[in-house]
Formats: sequence, C-alpha cells, structure tokens
Amino acid sequence: MAEKNRGKRLVKYVPDYVIFDLETTGINPAADEIIEISAVRVKERAVVDTFSTLVNPGCPIPWQATQVNGITDEMVREAPQIKEALSDFFAYTKDFVLVGHNIHSFDLKFIQEKAKNLFGRTVDNDYIDTLYMARQCLPQLAHHKLTDVASYFRISIEGAHRALNDCIMNLKCYEKLGELQESIHIDLCPKCGGELKRRNGKFGEFLGCSNFPECRYTAQIRK
Ligand SMILES: [Zn+2]
Repeated sequence: MAEKNRGKRLVKYVPDYVIFDLETTGINPAADEIIEISAVRVKERAVVDTFSTLVNPGCPIPWQATQVNGITDEMVREAPQIKEALSDFFAYTKDFVLVGHNIHSFDLKFIQEKAKNLFGRTVDNDYIDTLYMARQCLPQLAHHKLTDVASYFRISIEGAHRALNDCIMNLKCYEKLGELQESIHIDLCPKCGGELKRRNGKFGEFLGCSNFPECRYTAQIRK
C-alpha cells in the first residue's frame, strides 16, 4: 500500500512555493529508488534559488530508467545516498507549498515512502499538482503530460526528464496555468481550499470537496 499524502491538495495558484521533481529507477515507491531530486524556490513569481542533487541508489540503475532520464551508474557513483539527499531536500522545502507535475500520485508517494523508512516521519506540506491544474484549465488537450502542457504554451521542452530542467519547464507552465485559472471560475472549499466538484447523490446533484474523504464539506448547488 502506498503511503497517503498528508498535506492538503490545493487547487488554486499560490505565488510563493517550491516546485520540485524526482527522477527514479522505476514507478513503484516501495520497490524503486530516487536517483535525482531537484527543486526551485519561488517567491512572488520570481526564482529565489535552486536545489539539485543526484542520488546514489545503492543498486544498479535499470537501463529502462537510464533511457528516460539519461542518468547512469557512473553519474551517481560519487553522489550522496538518499538519506542525506532527502534531509537536504526537507531543509530546503521547509513548510512551503510544494508544486509539481503528477506529484499527487507519483513524486510525493516516493518522498512519503522514503521519509517513513529513513526518518519515521511524514511530509505534511500542502501541495499543488499541476497535472490537475492542466486538466482543469486545458480540457481541450487530449494528454496532460508535462511536455504536452509545455508545448501548448510554446515553452521549450529541451532537456526534459532531467529533474532541474523539468522543474524550470513546469514552473513556466504553472505560472501560465495560474494566469489561465484567473479567467475561469472555480468553487473553492471554505474548509480546506480544495476544489468543489459536482457530485451525484441520492437527492440529486451537490457540491463536494475534492479532498474527500479527508474533508467532508458539501454544499448545495445554487440555482
Ligand atoms: Zn475541503
């Protein structure tokens, strides 16, 4: 069972945040390892500084992973191990809102899993997943991978699948999505800042919080 995300998933653009990305040896947080962590701290829409480290996973990197991100055993030989890298990452991210693409289902699961095993702790930062923002703001796109969203905004996808490049690419996408979001109306949950979505219940349609079941806020649809 993958670890649950602890912080709340926010749906509305915030101007102060840390955007991050991981490269891994595979897609299973319980079995696979992190081989690169990058993050960029942004305040009032401007980059403050960046954080990036390769990670020595203590095992050979499968060729399938190297094919995606180009990271080889040779490159990580002198890199810190995950315990040190993750502790630096936590010091860097503090309690900032975390932003990333598909982090709800992927990157945060890895972070939670390793945090539990190495430090017996959870990651409680609230977070924004730009995949959800992209689906919400760009429903006309058939696919919402980071490179799809970047291409839509005519943002360069050169160097994709290395963590820091993806952070920068996603930061530009996030800022664009934030602007788009202002032009559409979103009903926000007054309890947790999640998105209120139309749901069907026994008594007809109502608004329910997207953070259900953690948040059980509901409201009637105003006619
Ligand atoms: Zn809520």
